[in-house]
Amino acid sequence: MYFADLILPRICPVCGRMLLRGERYMCLYCLSDLPYSYFWSWRGNPAENSFAGKIGVEMVSTLLIYRQESPYSKIVHAFKYQNRRGLCSYMGDMLGDKMAEGGWAKSFDFIIPVPLHPLKRWMRGYNQAEILSEALGERIGVPVLKGVLQRKRYTKTQTRKSAQERLSGMSGAFRVRDKNILTGKNLLLVDDVMTTGATLSACAGEILRSQGSRVSIAALAFAE
Ligand SMILES: [Zn+2]
Repeated sequence: MYFADLILPRICPVCGRMLLRGERYMCLYCLSDLPYSYFWSWRGNPAENSFAGKIGVEMVSTLLIYRQESPYSKIVHAFKYQNRRGLCSYMGDMLGDKMAEGGWAKSFDFIIPVPLHPLKRWMRGYNQAEILSEALGERIGVPVLKGVLQRKRYTKTQTRKSAQERLSGMSGAFRVRDKNILTGKNLLLVDDVMTTGATLSACAGEILRSQGSRVSIAALAFAE
């Protein structure tokens, strides 16, 4: 439990209703209506296929699937911009439970969170991908490796850019600090939302430069 979650009004991030006693982080109505992707037990799912022919990513799992204008996208907005770290961790637990159910437990050597630029991390006070990774890692029994994949360039928020602009804006944005650590390893790259996949592709591309490494991806949501 994070401090901000204790002092902020207890409001459902999806519908904005006050939470009732016994409801944690989200109201029961929104919780029971979560738009699950079922990607954790679906090989060749749309998120996985979106990398086909571009980059050698093995498996891709997300907890949710929604359109970008869906009210469920507010979950990610809340833990990115409103300091709702407890909500982030809670969603990471859920993703981990589903992935464990889908047979992903203990399949990887390390989890690697998509890094924020150090300046952005300092301003926000945390990296939401790390919080997700830690919760998820605990559920599937895989340690989290922080600081090995690094963000070199400060990139402005990408929300308003076209897919093509995002792709070119991301190439060369990441580096692996010590390639030897990742040599021959099976890795799970974790981010909050997968939209065009540009960020994840750029990260996976850097990781795959370590000889014999393999990469799969987990994200909270696949936003179409
Ligand atoms: Zn709600």
